[in-house]
Order: sequence, then C-alpha cells, then structure tokens
Amino acid sequence: MSVKVDPMPSSRAVASGECSDPFSLRGRRALITGAGQGIGFALARGLGVAGAELVLNDVDPVRLEQAVATLRGEGFTVNGRCFDVTNGADVERSVAEVERGIGPVDSLINNAGIHRRAPLETMPTERWQAVLDVNLTSAFLVTRAVVGGMIRRRAGKIITICSLNCEVSRPTIANYAAAKGGLKMLTRAMAVEWARHNIQVNGLGPGYIRTAMTGTLTIEAEFDRLICARTPAGRWGESRELVGTAVFLSSRAADFVNGQILYVDGGLLAAL
Ligand code: NAP
Repeated sequence: MSVKVDPMPSSRAVASGECSDPFSLRGRRALITGAGQGIGFALARGLGVAGAELVLNDVDPVRLEQAVATLRGEGFTVNGRCFDVTNGADVERSVAEVERGIGPVDSLINNAGIHRRAPLETMPTERWQAVLDVNLTSAFLVTRAVVGGMIRRRAGKIITICSLNCEVSRPTIANYAAAKGGLKMLTRAMAVEWARHNIQVNGLGPGYIRTAMTGTLTIEAEFDRLICARTPAGRWGESRELVGTAVFLSSRAADFVNGQILYVDGGLLAAL
C-alpha cells in the first residue's frame, strides 16, 4: 500500500510567505469585546504584539478611551468603539461602521462578560436575565453582525471566552454557569454551521484569573485558599497567561481547529 505524504514546502512557497510564522497576525484586524480592562485588554495587547490591528469595544466609554490610549502609546494600531453588546441594533450599527470606516474584521473575540451572584432559590429574574444577556446572547448578536463579511471573504476566526463553568458549577452562580454552558454549545453550533465557509469558531476557557471581576474573591482568604488548593498549579492565573492560546486560535496555525474549548486553568478541570 502506498501512502501519500505532503511534499516539503517549495522554496517558492517559502519566498511567498506561505510558510512564514503560522502564528503571525500581521495584516489581520481583530475586534475584542469588553476590552476596556481585564482579560479582554490583555488579549488585545497580545494580539497586537502578534501583529494584529485592533478594534477595542467596551460599554464604558472612559475606560475604553483609556485602554485605546494605552495601547496606542505602546505603538499598536488601535481603534475603539463603544457599544453595548446586548443591544442588537447598537451592535449591528457599530459593526457596520467599523467595517465601513476601518475595515473588515478578520478575528472576533467575544469576551464581554459579567457576574451577578445570588442563591438560585431567591435569584431575581433581572440578575438571571442580565447574565444570560451579556455572557451568552451577546456572542450571538456580535457574531451575527460580523459573520456575514467573513462568509463573503471565505475566512474568519471567532473565539468565545468560555469558563470552567461551562463544565462545573458552584452555589450562587447558576445564571453564570447556565450562560457559559450555553456559550460552549453556541461555539460548537457556530463551528459546525460555518466550517464550510472556512470560518473557525473555538472557545478559550480561563481558570480562576485575577481581574476586576474576581477582585473581591481574590482577597477573601477562604476562597483564595480554596482556589489555590483546587488548582494543581497552586495559584490564580494572570490575564497575560491566556494570550498564547488566543493568538494560536486567531492564527493560521489553527486553520483546522474548530469547535474546541481550550481550557487554560492551571490543570483545575483535570483534577478531582
Ligand atoms: P472584567 O474585568 O469585568 O472585564 C469585562 C469587561 O466587559 C468590563 O470592562 C465590562 O464593563 C465589559 N462589559 C460588561 N458588559 C458589557 C456590555 N454589555 N457591552 C460591552 N462591554 C461590557 O472581567 P474579566 O475577568 O476580564 O472577564 C472577561 C471574560 O472572561 C468574561 O466573559 C468572563 O466571564 C470570562 N472569564 C473570566 C474569568 C476570571 O477568572 N476572571 C474566568 C473565566 C472566564 P463593566 O465593568 O462596566 O461591566
């Protein structure tokens, strides 16, 4: 039986850049939601280092302006666009303006998220709905606005920021766990639906990361002890530790990676 093996790259392919750094994001534009601070900001900076042009979104205009100014000061090509990712009309208008005024979005990172904890038996409906809206429905709304262009161009990378709570839960976070569990399946559904258009949709699932969202938890001694004991790495993670995975999933290196959730959690989900 003869086995066909891909030939070595030709010198012409090397010269044309076909074989250059598969992780480079040079020439690509990335839109990152909720990027005024925390994980979104760190991912934006990391994608910028890898060569991407950046469009930052946040719902807080002052925070967004500061984030844009900081990254511009570091030499990146950055624009900001303030909109609420839960407002469908706002999302459609804003994405259209970005694509018309700045250029097409090659990579989208659905990062915006919130936590509103409460015991489930007394959880107010508004808390349930707000968390579902920001952590789940927004990914549908923003992706729907962006994907038409990707389908036309036959190329696109979409990353959803998932969570350990796609898989496991704790008391008082049922709204968040339901939203992130839904986001995991939305990620897979989008991957399956758009793979034929050469669009890859994957999830990045952070473990416990120090940010404003987890700020109050990091200083609660008991919770801090619990997280350090539960995480095989024995510590909280930092936002910058998610960058490599986001760059990978945004890059040519991930052209055949689709519908996966990649957990970056210091080993937590692997441990009993
Ligand atoms: P963060 O520091 O609170 O940053 C989230 C950003 O999103 C904030 O600037 C927030 O603004 C913004 N945002 C909220 N609602 C928005 C909306 N409707 N439209 C646009 N922007 C909005 O949180 P983070 O810790 O970086 O979390 C980022 C993502 O990672 C979230 O999806 C979160 O669920 C996920 N995650 C975090 C951890 C962790 O340990 N930190 C672990 C797993 C997953 P406001 O502050 O005004 O709300």
